[in-house]
Amino acid sequence: MPSFDPNQLTINSAHFIGGRHVAGTANTLDVRRPSDNQPYAALPVAEADVVDQAVQNAWQAYKTTNWATRAPRERARVMRRWAELIEADVQYLAKLEAIGSTRPIANAIAWDVPFTAEGIRFFAEFADKIGGDVAATRRESLGMTIAEPYGVIGAIAPWNFPLVMASWKVAPALAAGNAVVLKPSELTPFSVLRLAELAVEAGMPPGIFNIVQGLGHTTGDALVRHPLVSKVTFTGSTRTGAAIMQACAQTGTKPVTLELGGKSPQIVFADAPDLDKVARMVAGAIAGNAGQVCVAGSRLIVQRGVAEQLIEGISSAFAQLHPGPTWSADTTLSPIITPKDAQRIDSMVQRGLEEGAQLAVGGRIGQPVGEGAYYQPTILTGVNSSMEVVRDEIFGPVLTVQVFDDDEEALSLGDHPSYGLAAGIHTADISRALRCARGIEAGTVWVNRYGRSDDYVIPTGGYKRSGIGKDLGKQSYEANLRFKSVLIDI
Ligand code: NAD
Repeated sequence: MPSFDPNQLTINSAHFIGGRHVAGTANTLDVRRPSDNQPYAALPVAEADVVDQAVQNAWQAYKTTNWATRAPRERARVMRRWAELIEADVQYLAKLEAIGSTRPIANAIAWDVPFTAEGIRFFAEFADKIGGDVAATRRESLGMTIAEPYGVIGAIAPWNFPLVMASWKVAPALAAGNAVVLKPSELTPFSVLRLAELAVEAGMPPGIFNIVQGLGHTTGDALVRHPLVSKVTFTGSTRTGAAIMQACAQTGTKPVTLELGGKSPQIVFADAPDLDKVARMVAGAIAGNAGQVCVAGSRLIVQRGVAEQLIEGISSAFAQLHPGPTWSADTTLSPIITPKDAQRIDSMVQRGLEEGAQLAVGGRIGQPVGEGAYYQPTILTGVNSSMEVVRDEIFGPVLTVQVFDDDEEALSLGDHPSYGLAAGIHTADISRALRCARGIEAGTVWVNRYGRSDDYVIPTGGYKRSGIGKDLGKQSYEANLRFKSVLIDI
């Protein structure tokens, strides 16, 4: 796909309720393009009454249409058709994703849009696979568990992969027969509207998938607290996750799935096969989407003998990245979501340097396009585990480096005191790899690779303060069902 002109793209800005766009009130928010920080559309901000309208619509659709009660294969057929429509719309949808987010157009075409569509297909396939069990009861009885949807699920998504993250929340909920009200991030609100339009076009009953636009602490909070929302599924920061969990507890002990932040290690042993390849992997895992990835491999833990060579390899991979606007075909380094976030990243790096870290490469806000902010991929050496840059999620392209001598030290540096989202282990020794995979407290461990694959069947989710529950995999589908026990005397 060639570059495109961001000023030629049609943007629909609205809520999506009951199967149609609903214009907002006078309360709007300027939404800016991260690439050049220019406002490109005004977003309506839903007050409590609009949230209520969306949830009531979802509840009515859940109760009065046959989305939940139809043959599961018929539900799956609609979802598969939806995935086809998304793929057919890739040119528009990818531009919509790219213009407002940090996703370069080439990535949006090759990954975000097809990954969204295929994920919807993956969850559609579960619709008639999990119905409950017959229990091994006394012979005089027949006991069973019956899987049932919750009703209305409230979904809240972050800005870093707007389509993909939203689809991981919405698709399993819908495939399981629920109705959904989604609140996307106020920073990246538009591409999911197109998803909702296409769902209706595919045959999903109006009102089953709704979107409310607005801020987190008002619109998002009203959604979480709404009495007709029976379950909440959230992806975002650990701090917001805690607030949502509290709101769920205060408004009816609602179950909640939380996919939160991380500070994931990449542990490289001296025997790792092909160090050049490992260097490229480590670089990609922290510079991809400019480090604005929950599973970003932000802490390099490297065995002493190969540290220098690896840092050199990572630096030269960084040097090949090309920052640019997301609508340019040759952009390979994403902008930072807002200039304020670039400042925040830079302040953390500067504080790290004040605490004694050394700058091996990067460390600057650079190459601005218009007023957009980019951050140079950065390597900090000479750090220790008590420094803020090692402890806290930076959510930018900043890699810290710690050196170890033996396996025990590798694991103790690798384990984070509070986060446990993902970890990478690079070694040719399979026993060592398995010992480390078992030893490290993280929800996902990658060996001799880093990052999610298109194996949707592998669930993703955090240990410790990185979250509760899973996205993807069978587990994530099941989390959108509740199980009723039925016992019959024969
Ligand atoms: P955020 O927590 O600021 O916002 C996420 C969403 O929550 C937004 O839609 C926001 O409007 C909403 N929100 C904020 N406060 C709320 C409240 N009180 N009640 C209800 N909703 C509220 O996170 P972000 O900056 O959009 O995303 C970045 C964070 O997300 C990072 O910490 C990253 O690690 C995490 N993340 C995790 C995963 C994962 O799978 N574990 C994936 C992507 C991002």
